[in-house]
Amino acid sequence: MAKPTGAICNLDCAYCFFLEKEKLYPESNFRMSDDVLKAYLKQYIQSQPRVAEIMVTWQGGEPTLMGLDFFKKATEYANQFKARGQRVSFAIQTNGVLLDDDWGKFLRIHRCLVGISIDGTELLHDTYRRDKGNKPTFKHVIAGLNILKKHRVETNILCTVSAANGDHPLEIYRYFRDELKAAYIQFIPVVDRDEAYSVRPKQWGDFLTTIFDKWVRQDVGKVFIPTFEAALANFYGVSAGICVFNETCGAALALEHNGDLYACDHYVDPEYLLGNITETPMPALVASEKQQAFGQAKKDDLPKFCQTCDVRFACHGECPKNRFAKTPDGEDGLNYLCEGYKAFFKHIDAPMKFMVNELQNQRSPASVMKLFN
Ligand code: SF4
Ligand code: SF4
Repeated sequence: MAKPTGAICNLDCAYCFFLEKEKLYPESNFRMSDDVLKAYLKQYIQSQPRVAEIMVTWQGGEPTLMGLDFFKKATEYANQFKARGQRVSFAIQTNGVLLDDDWGKFLRIHRCLVGISIDGTELLHDTYRRDKGNKPTFKHVIAGLNILKKHRVETNILCTVSAANGDHPLEIYRYFRDELKAAYIQFIPVVDRDEAYSVRPKQWGDFLTTIFDKWVRQDVGKVFIPTFEAALANFYGVSAGICVFNETCGAALALEHNGDLYACDHYVDPEYLLGNITETPMPALVASEKQQAFGQAKKDDLPKFCQTCDVRFACHGECPKNRFAKTPDGEDGLNYLCEGYKAFFKHIDAPMKFMVNELQNQRSPASVMKLFN
């Protein structure tokens, strides 16, 4: 993923760990230059000549702060660098606040996929998602979402689950599904070491379990929830498709505005800097020993408690950045959310096995819903 404004954002969400990353580049204007943009797209696209569809993902901070011209230029460069018959698609993760009709038209014309961050209903969302003047943002975000709907832009919802909204799974799920008519909802746990804003481990388990129970009765095949799809893939025995639930990781690198490439968006730290793409070609940085070791460590550094865990095949210790708890026998490196994941993956065992069996017999997993009706 590329971060054209680095960590710079127009909001000031209480739980955001990206904002402090500004300090890494004290002299910077935090705008990806034309040279870096060109180098990135050229290297990224031309390193995948046989891939029919290449996805370029813009993330932040807040990428819309770059203004539309930057993204127009990006689509022009992409057209220049792609091979005949290749398609380059764009995805952008945004807080939605700056979206207007011009954005709507552009995103529609270029068939961009937009992820918009909403933390639930107005009160829940506004608890932590505030602007720089500490004002609530919900109304602006919904205005942005309405722009996307008006221009029929494909939209996903990204909901971070924190101490503030973690006790309201059904209220949030129903709101997204029934009011916002969302068909794709990604839930991401907020985890910070001092726990001020973090969803609690049991709260996270209960949150997922409660929504799963609703989904598995009513919405399989209708509402796409990446955590549940990843679990199904792991129960089936294929790659989860999301790094956090794969055995190893290291394929989700983060490109800073100045061309610095980091191991992962959660590890934008000098220690995890691989190099700058204007000096070393990106494929070499991606294939470097340092990055391979980073990805492999997700598996190799699991504490014994995880290695013998009966839901390890589904959890894989989740993301290494969240592994700062101790196991019951005192070993370091247990995932802070372990208690929640253990309970969740055990809870979904029977319906998941049913769906796997349906898939193995070339039937739709959606028939699981009949089990409960
Ligand atoms: S460190 Fe976490 S977020 Fe980053 S690639 Fe690995 S699992 Fe994914
Ligand atoms: S549920 Fe807990 S013990 Fe099991 S793999 Fe996940 S983090 Fe490790």
